[in-house]
Amino acid sequence: MTSLLFPLPPTVVPIDGETRAFPVRRIYCVGRNYAAHAREMGADPAAEPPFFFMKPADALVTGARAPYPTDTDNLHHEIELVVAIGRGGWDVTYEQALDLVYGYAVGIDLTKRDRQNDAKAKGQPWERAKAFEASAPITPIFPAERIGHPKTGAVELSVNGELRQRGDLGDLILPVPAIIARLSEVWTLAPGDLIFTGTPEGVGRLARGDRLSGHIEGVTRIDVEIA
Ligand code: MN
Repeated sequence: MTSLLFPLPPTVVPIDGETRAFPVRRIYCVGRNYAAHAREMGADPAAEPPFFFMKPADALVTGARAPYPTDTDNLHHEIELVVAIGRGGWDVTYEQALDLVYGYAVGIDLTKRDRQNDAKAKGQPWERAKAFEASAPITPIFPAERIGHPKTGAVELSVNGELRQRGDLGDLILPVPAIIARLSEVWTLAPGDLIFTGTPEGVGRLARGDRLSGHIEGVTRIDVEIA
């Protein structure tokens, strides 16, 4: 093999109970996958189905602190179930979809809401609002062979001890197998892909020093400080 001009270490996420880490290839995200959140964003969930966007793998933060980013005065929190893909596939059926899942984590899709609103108004892409450095805090991954495939369960996020977001996995418009089936019609899924599955209602503004504390029933909890 040709040698490399400089080293490029892979982005990895720890696996709970494992000495080996999960190497990350791509991060897919689902937009407006809970009806109540779609409505709070001014959209009609019946008219506009969920859609996909991406973050770069190196946007992940596996530590307890995420820096407040530049280029925004309106940083928002979005707590989400994250699916870790362990087997690849293309045009996967709903029935086969969970066979691709290695495990689950809890993530925060940090969003520059002001930049996202600018982009929407101008018909521009969302990378500036969604794909910035440290925009994706995440917990370790919990293997499905241990925790199963959570289909229902509370999704909650508090900021400085005040409950902000509350939803249930059972309210996902596209549940996990449907997300995998739809995504794999468009992109070839591969081991190392992560999927942020969308956030319930109650998204809101963050300030420097805020402490986020979240939980997805049947998966794990997440604690992040905005430094
Ligand atoms: Mn999101």
